[in-house]
Amino acid sequence: MQIDPKRTVKATRDRVEGGLGGQDTDLPGEMVPVVHLEDGVEVPWGYTVFCPGCAERLSLQTAGPEPHWTATGDLDAGTLTLTPSIHHQNGCGWHGHLVEGTFVPV
Ligand SMILES: [Zn+2]
Repeated sequence: MQIDPKRTVKATRDRVEGGLGGQDTDLPGEMVPVVHLEDGVEVPWGYTVFCPGCAERLSLQTAGPEPHWTATGDLDAGTLTLTPSIHHQNGCGWHGHLVEGTFVPV
């Protein structure tokens, strides 16, 4: 996988059984919804995102205490939008937005 800090890529669900830690190669733009268990109930927490630039694993929180990302739309429908921007600091440096299901660099 070529590292490209200016890559534009669609957000896709990592569909391997068990999600994270599977046997597949994690590709830039793949995402897995993350839930936490609270009193036995699954509560949305956010997303694991494989960096659009380098496929390294990032954790984006979309619930709980501020500050966190705001998520609208739907991953599987290709309409997911996260605000504010995503920046892979201390990594490949990819910086951009997930807008309507596509990671777009700034
Ligand atoms: Zn990166």
